[in-house]
Amino acid sequence: MADFIWDLDADGVATITWDTPGKSMNVMSMAGFAELDALIDRALTDAAVKGVVITSGKKDFAGGMDLNVLAGMRAGGARAIFDGVMQMHTVLRRIELAGMDFKTKKGAKPIVAALPGTALGIGLELPLATHRIFAADNPKAKIGLPEIKVGIFPGGGGTTRVSRKLGAMMAAPILLEGRLSDPKGAKAAGLIDEVVPADDLIGAAKAWVLAAKDADLVKPWDDKGYKFPGGAPYHPAGFMTFVGASAMVNGKTQGVFPAAKALLSAVYEGSLVPFDQALKIEARQFTSVLMNPSSSAMIRSLFINKEALEKGANRPKVADQTVKRLGVLGAGMMGAGIAYVAANAGIEVVLIDATQEAADRGRAHSESLLDKGIKRGRVSPAQKDEVLSRITTTTDYAALRGVDLIVEAVFEDAKVKAGVTKLAEEAAGADVILATNTSTLPITGLAAASARPENYIGIHFFSPVDKMMLVEIIRGKKTGDRAVAKALDFVRQFRKTPIVVNDARFFYANRCIIPYINEGIRMVAEGIEPALVENAAKLLGMPLGPLQLVDETSIELGVKIAKATKAAMGADYPDEAVDRVIFWLADQGRLGRKTNAGFYDYSEKGERLGLWEGLARKYPADKVQLSLADVQHRLLMAQVLEAVRALEEGVLTDIREGDVGAILGWGFAPWSGGPFGWLDIIGAARAVQICRELTAQFGRRFEAPALLREMAEKGTAFYGQPGATRAA
Ligand code: NAD
Repeated sequence: MADFIWDLDADGVATITWDTPGKSMNVMSMAGFAELDALIDRALTDAAVKGVVITSGKKDFAGGMDLNVLAGMRAGGARAIFDGVMQMHTVLRRIELAGMDFKTKKGAKPIVAALPGTALGIGLELPLATHRIFAADNPKAKIGLPEIKVGIFPGGGGTTRVSRKLGAMMAAPILLEGRLSDPKGAKAAGLIDEVVPADDLIGAAKAWVLAAKDADLVKPWDDKGYKFPGGAPYHPAGFMTFVGASAMVNGKTQGVFPAAKALLSAVYEGSLVPFDQALKIEARQFTSVLMNPSSSAMIRSLFINKEALEKGANRPKVADQTVKRLGVLGAGMMGAGIAYVAANAGIEVVLIDATQEAADRGRAHSESLLDKGIKRGRVSPAQKDEVLSRITTTTDYAALRGVDLIVEAVFEDAKVKAGVTKLAEEAAGADVILATNTSTLPITGLAAASARPENYIGIHFFSPVDKMMLVEIIRGKKTGDRAVAKALDFVRQFRKTPIVVNDARFFYANRCIIPYINEGIRMVAEGIEPALVENAAKLLGMPLGPLQLVDETSIELGVKIAKATKAAMGADYPDEAVDRVIFWLADQGRLGRKTNAGFYDYSEKGERLGLWEGLARKYPADKVQLSLADVQHRLLMAQVLEAVRALEEGVLTDIREGDVGAILGWGFAPWSGGPFGWLDIIGAARAVQICRELTAQFGRRFEAPALLREMAEKGTAFYGQPGATRAA
């Protein structure tokens, strides 16, 4: 079945309608490209055809390249990728030149794109090769080039065309951040040409085709005297832009995201040569990025597996459990955030706290977030009223009658939680599912307070709830499938990404992040320069160094967790050296950002100034410092080995969840695709060798788990292919 359908009207305007069979969204394949090429050829050679409108038979234009095509290209090696990309460039270039005589700049047939809705990736790169882009006035449509977010960059001419159209400065947010806009925003940014009422889309496009003059069909870069907007690198203004862009990219990515660097190289080098040469450079850079194991690891975790988890890859086969009415117990920081995301997704919420004032404060949190949305033009006053009207605040548990899910977010105290659990279950009725948002207390223990432990589950949100995209769902020993399905369906309603893990101390995310923080603090106690620790983490692509992270989450919380863990572990407790540092800081009232004092100093306004000098006085830096690689391996392995142990122990049951959860939950080096992705990149044998070296120097916490040793012996990898060569 064809992806593209041809139609010629009485005026001689051909319509090529993209309609990938069996899919709700068009995606491009190499076969699709060949079909399109043949139809363009037909249009250019048939004298009866005056011009072409390329549009879509679906509500959107296209979602991008079929990522399986990219995987297939990669399997063929660098040559196959380069040839495949150059083939796409040839087709798109044929559309752009459309039979034009290059000397006279005459004779081209107009070809335009008419976008009914979303146009992403190659779905925008194809329109960019046409002579004019029309979009239906559809505020829900997203237009842009999001490739950078999954570790690649626009390689179908988008990088070269957008930078030549807009200049490096204006192209930066579109290319380097993957910023998406609605049609009006895309027009304002200069990406597309016309926004028209949806019923007039094809009519307006055809009218333009029939009226187009030769001069309308010559792209600026194919015209004489073309100058790169804002100046190419040898122009003084361009020089400054490129120096600034290079610094910005390195500052933001710490040089660990190969795609951002390659993108910038493609723009820089491309701007110095003629257009067709620039496309070749773009193809070479794209090939190098696609051959880098980081890009496949990122695509796998941030696109394919993230989506699979969101669609319910691990959902038990139980009838639909969509939440209609939600109860939230505790209207503090977390409860208020949970009420907001739920109400925003159309769910009725009963928000309960011990006093009416506290419950109202929780609702006021939603109000302030909605007000911010209004200021930014993302929310209308009517929408604000609608969302707020869904949140009822009370102290009366009787209001829970008829709710189908209750999320408990009261103080982190098992007794308090047991009390509210009993009251809520009695008020809501037998079918209700009760979820606790605890961050540290085992679910199985808390479930003892429930009359129906099969209906009791952990739903662990991260702070701030409205921003953090991961939700960790925890199965207690007795949790039943309906409770898991309920939690997954709930998370799906507000479009966050869920992982489902089994019950164990700190579940999954906190279990891995605590050793990272502790390893950083332990190094400071050993006399390693705190700045070396922090910068080593940043150079790994971690969003926050371990010391900054503990300042943000609060040193007081660290002290509480340390005390509770020590009480639970007794003589096996391994972190005395870490505790000495944080207890000492806490004793001086340095509790982290919330007191404007922690490992860092802060201004009165709360701006982070620099590492606190008192730290260096108490823990003077050793003359001989560890190498950067040693510090990095310690910080990485502290997290990664914990993830492997979580898998070995059955806390994690799916490595996809381990990887996606790590990146979304605590920002684990996204370029690696996650802890398991990273282990596959370096290979199990190299990982075991690093563990051996770290164990000899720094202690048994770095001993390789049996699973990893076994994989090293057998030469296997987590995701199938044995690892490639890149080491951290
Ligand atoms: P918080 O102190 O901001 O809020 C707790 C709220 O519960 C308060 O408003 C309090 O008045 C209310 N409350 C206490 N006892 C109550 C009772 N008997 N009946 C009704 N309401 C009662 O705390 P928080 O930070 O929102 O944390 C809540 C839960 O979420 C805890 O279990 C915590 O471990 C967990 N959690 C916190 C974070 C975080 O970063 N703060 C992250 C994930 C999970």
